[in-house]
Parts: sequence; structure tokens; C-alpha cells
Amino acid sequence: MTNPPDRPRVLPVSTPQDEQIFCGLGVSPGVAIGVAYLHDTGKVNVPEYKIAPNALEGERSRFVEAVARASRQVSLLQRKARSLPGSTGEELGYLLDAYQQMLKGSRLVRGVDRRISEERINAEAAVQWEIDQIVHGFAAMDDAYLAARIEDIRDVGRRLIRNLTKTPFKPFSLLPKNAVILAEELTPADTALLDPATVAGFATVLGGGASHTAIMARSLGLPAIVGMTGLVNRASDGATAVIDGAEGKVILNPSAETLAAYRCKRALFLKRRRHLHRLHKVPAITLDGTGISLQANLELPAEIDGVLAAGAAGIGLLRSEFLYMNRSDLPSEDEQYDIMLQMVQRLDGRPLTIRTLDAGGDKMPTSLGFGDGPNPALGLRAIRLSLKHPEILETQLAAILRVGAHGPVRILLPMISAVEELQAVRGVMEQVVRRLKRRHVAIASPLPPVGTMIEVPGAALAADALAWHSDFFAIGTNDLTQYTLAIDRADESVAYLYNPLHPAVLRLIQFSAEAALRARIPISICGEIAGDPRYTALLLGLGIRELSMAATNIPRVKQRVRGLDLVAATGRARVIMDQSDSARIARLVDDFNADALDVD
Ligand code: PEP
Ligand code: MG
Repeated sequence: MTNPPDRPRVLPVSTPQDEQIFCGLGVSPGVAIGVAYLHDTGKVNVPEYKIAPNALEGERSRFVEAVARASRQVSLLQRKARSLPGSTGEELGYLLDAYQQMLKGSRLVRGVDRRISEERINAEAAVQWEIDQIVHGFAAMDDAYLAARIEDIRDVGRRLIRNLTKTPFKPFSLLPKNAVILAEELTPADTALLDPATVAGFATVLGGGASHTAIMARSLGLPAIVGMTGLVNRASDGATAVIDGAEGKVILNPSAETLAAYRCKRALFLKRRRHLHRLHKVPAITLDGTGISLQANLELPAEIDGVLAAGAAGIGLLRSEFLYMNRSDLPSEDEQYDIMLQMVQRLDGRPLTIRTLDAGGDKMPTSLGFGDGPNPALGLRAIRLSLKHPEILETQLAAILRVGAHGPVRILLPMISAVEELQAVRGVMEQVVRRLKRRHVAIASPLPPVGTMIEVPGAALAADALAWHSDFFAIGTNDLTQYTLAIDRADESVAYLYNPLHPAVLRLIQFSAEAALRARIPISICGEIAGDPRYTALLLGLGIRELSMAATNIPRVKQRVRGLDLVAATGRARVIMDQSDSARIARLVDDFNADALDVD
């Protein structure tokens, strides 16, 4: 995917004195030049005051007007949602329908009106009180459906308060062309709504390099930076903004000289990308003739064009969370089947590895409504959640089994930590197979391989046992690094400690790879290091022959594979695995790569 073209003539140019430079952690390479857009979290301070008895009717009308205005705003968004591609538009559409319902005489609207009349308080304070009460009541009911509505109610409430206080709301649908989004935080669900045709790039205050928001930026090919402390407070809407994703720099109000330099850098980046793109037809083989399977990770169905254009050998990781994002209900079996079927058809015989829902941590889709728990990264997430609520797993397995009748699919289970979990999933799958067969529904034959994600240190250490119960392994180094080093992958304050080259992480990768080789099952890596050519030689040297990554990274990794001598890489991996110091390991990795890698 290419960046939208910048429009040099419309961007205001500043003097060197106005230029402001901010540094953070670059998480997605490329240069964006565009118009600063400060993303709104929607929070507004709500004043509270008493209304005189003779002004009560006026206050109630003010509220009625705010509701009518909110309804018009939501209608506009509904129209926009309908023009979004595929399931994204559909999902957003359902959510907005629910918003419209809430604005039509619901408990919220009636409650606010009653508070204005009886408590004689201003409308915005009445909205705030009513929302707090509803949310409190719903939270106490321990009902998954009601809990899922809480965010929707808050969202509608914020919109009403904004209309009453006349604070404009700025949704993504109203972005200017070539927007450089500057935000406190973007959730993965927010990022799923970004249209690369409009957005040039983004920078946020919060978030880590391995967070799902960063992963999505790389998949969409958007230059992005996280950990930009102080940025949002000092930026103003409409200013010229430059993002250098490789350097981790944001430049606000660049001088004419700086702007010219970044235009050159951007042109060079795009030229290099076009050049690498020419590799999409040549095979990924090492100098000594070993074929390496380079597959794609997919976060959103819209990325499939990019996957095919990059020459991916298949999809090594379909993160199925998108099916559950930006909506307030669960996707049905048919809906999941339809979306996956389209992918299988587009892949035309290439394998599709579908990971079952990996909710939790920094990507809890609101539709599930399950609490985050005291420590979301260690709580009821991923396969644990699916086994606790087997209806979610059954629906997903049924859809996958049906899709498997139309092309090669594999089932991948996230966050496995024990053999018992694998056995439990296989038990659920047997039941689903029986049910589908009873209904004479066509399913995959033979049944799809069931694989284990190795992303918990305990799973890596028990890889021998897990391998006997798995048809394949996929190492998720993003979580494996997080859990091994106790570093929250989405927390910018500890991002400097997040290091997949830590000897502990490498030993767990090596241990898992050896267990898979002994059990003769395929093993791949689908964490972010798979898409970084810096790690390619080391991973191949450790015996890995399948890598799955953001499609945008396939050409760079392929170039590295084609320049690599496997015997030399294996020798270097052996030397590296004898080390206990991360800094020395990094030097050994970089020396081996010297001259082979081009920089972003
Ligand atoms: C991983 O943890 O490395 C992985 C691929 O899964 P995710 O990034 O979706 O958690
Ligand atoms: Mg993971």
C-alpha cells in the first residue's frame, strides 16, 4: 500500500524558529508529510448548576435539541459506514444502529429529562449523572451483554454532552486528506477504522512497539511513532506535520529546508519500496537453494490485496479479532464463514492459518463485554476465554471447518500453556464436527491441522509435550518476549527493555524449534521479528523455515533470505546461542548482517 501523495503547495511552511521536533519510538517505517489532526478522546468537563423553575422548560428543550442533533450526527456516520469496505462498514453500521435506538426515548433520554425536571439541574450534568447511574447498575449485574453496552452508553452520553456544551466532536470520518493523526492513544479498534487513503501516518503518546496498534500500522503501511510525550499538548490542528517512522521523529511546523529534506527522504523510501516490490515474483530461497516460506499476518480483510501483491506464500496468521471489533454483538457462524470463504477464494490454494479469538491484553473487543480483570495480560484471555465460553469457540470452529471444505485452512490456538487446553479444544472440535455432519454440512476432509502458538514461556519449556498433541507450532515472539521478560508490550515506559534478542527469549525459541523438529511438525514464527530482516539470519540459523509477517515486510525479508548462506547463518546462530549478554548478541547479529541490509 502506498502513502497518499502529499500536496506540497497547500502546506504552510514555517521559519526555523517555529520548528518543533519530538522524539519517540518509531514503530512503522516511512515518511508522512501532512496536516496535523489532534484526535479527540471525547472527554469533556461537565459543569453543574441549578436551573430556576421558570427556565426548566427551556432547559428541557435544550436537551431535546441536543438529542436531535446527536441523531443527525449518527445518521451521517451511518451513511459513511455504509461506504466502508466489507465487514468494517457492516460492523460499524450495527453499532451506529444501536446508538440511534438509544437516542429514541430510551431509558437514558427519559432519565435525563426526569432529572432536569425533578432535580432542577442543567442538562449536561443530568446526562452525566444518568450515565453514571446506568453504567453502575449494568456493571453490578454481571451480565456479559449489558456489560458490553456500557461503552456504547458512555459514547452516546459524551456525544450529548458535547452537543450541549457546544464542544465539537471530531470523529475519524471527518479527517482532512493527508491527515497526520496526533493522539494520546489509538486503540486497535480505532486503528482498524483508519483509511490509508486519507491518513498519512500517526503518532501517539501511549503504546509500545509490539502493541497491536503498532502492528496494524505496519500492516496498513502507515508511518507511525509511539511514546511521544508532550506532543499532544504542544501541537495544534492544521499545522504542517512530518512523521519519520524509522527515526521515531515528529516535526511540527517544519522550515522550508526541513520540509524539502523530508520530501527527498520520502521519495527515496517509496522508490526503495517500489524496487523491493519487484521481488514479489521471485522465490524466497537462500544462496544454497533452501526454500523459505514467507507468509503474511493479516489483521483486516482489506489487507488481502496487499498480501497477494507482496507474493505471500499464504496467510500464516489471521488475527480473527477484527471480527469482534467495533460492534456490540458476537459474529455469527455464517458471518464468519462468509468472510473467511472470501479469503480462501482469494488465496486460490495458498494456505490460510486462522487463529481463534485472541481477545485480551491490549485488544479486548468490546462486544465480548468480559471484564479486563486485575491483570488483563495474565487473565481470562485468548484460548482461556474461548474455553470458558465454549459457544464462542464452537461458532468459530464450525465456521473454520466449513471454510476448510473450500481450500487449505489450519486452526491456530493462541496462548496455549498446557496440554489439557489442547485436548479440551480437540474435544470441542469433535462435537462440532459431529453436529455439522449430522446436518450434512460440507466440512474439511481431512480435518484441518490444529496448531499451538508458543507465546508463553511455560509452553516453550513444555514444547516437547505440546508437540505430541499439535499438528504444527507458531511462535508468537511478541507475547513470548513480553511474558519472558515481564515487559508489557504496549507500555511505552518500559519499551526500552523489550528485547527479543535477550538470551532467555532466544533460548525459548531454540528449545521450541528443536522440539518441533524432533516431533517432525512444522514450526513458524509469526511475531514481529519474523518481518524484520535484522533477525532473518538468526531465525533461519535456528532451524526455522517458515516466517509470517506484515505483508509490507515480505519484500525486505525475501531480499535478506536470497542473500543468505544457510551454513554460515547456522554457524553464527550457534555462536550467538553460547552468549549470555544481550548487547554482545546484538553486535553478533548486526556484524553478520553488515552490508546485507538496506536501511529505511
Ligand atoms: C505474538 O504474540 O507474537 C503474536 C503473533 O500474536 P499477537 O501479536 O496477535 O499477540
Ligand atoms: Mg500473541
